[in-house]
Amino acid sequence: MINRQDLAAELLEIVDSLTAVIILDQERKRSLSYLCSSQDVDSAQKPVTVLTTKRFEKPTLGDIRADMRDCRRCCLHATRQNLVFGEGNPQTDLVFVGEAPGADEDQQGKPFVGRAGQLLTKIIEAMGLKREQVYICNILKCRPPGNRNPLPEEILACEPFLIRQLEAIGPQVICTLGTFAARTLLKTEAPITVLRGRFHDYHGIPLMPTYHPAYLLRNPSAKKQVWEDVQQIMKRLKIGESPSPS
Ligand code: URA
Repeated sequence: MINRQDLAAELLEIVDSLTAVIILDQERKRSLSYLCSSQDVDSAQKPVTVLTTKRFEKPTLGDIRADMRDCRRCCLHATRQNLVFGEGNPQTDLVFVGEAPGADEDQQGKPFVGRAGQLLTKIIEAMGLKREQVYICNILKCRPPGNRNPLPEEILACEPFLIRQLEAIGPQVICTLGTFAARTLLKTEAPITVLRGRFHDYHGIPLMPTYHPAYLLRNPSAKKQVWEDVQQIMKRLKIGESPSPS
């Protein structure tokens, strides 16, 4: 027999997911004609307003976090301790996107705070920046049990929030860390060995894929390639260039 509570929870999840898609489409000024009935052909051509006027303003990271609420859009909510939204400077030129929180991140509710995170912090500092000057987030906001790979349905449920985070920040450069982040944002199945080392286009924003710091912990010889990738980012952002004499 169907449990009414489970059914109600499932319906709420569906409503939440649909709302996330509508908000994203509305913010991107895409047609919302799918909200009109098929008989109402005339009005399907007209813009549809479904959400408050505040929604027409550019959302802040706080608005997006508030929209996630106590997210239950995929099964990871059942095993997480904390949702790891992301942290850093909302006005930064540079955003790092990793895969998903690990055990330390799940415990602290902050991205990249474990061993791989400490290495990422070193890379950021080697660039001449402080961690607080950039923004750091992940494709998935909740930890997959045992750090298993993200499932397609988890990426599908979580990606709209990452897209909105990137739109809210509007960085000059995105640096993806590891295979999953690059493949998800670039919509490709190509391996990271092929993708890294050059800029790709992410909706007009240059995106540099590089190896994940966790991979560097296992393969320190790949640090040289990451440093080459990072130097390209520094060049693009003019980091470390002495100001020209006036
Ligand atoms: N690995 C990731 O991809 N993200 C984190 O936040 C931590 C480890």
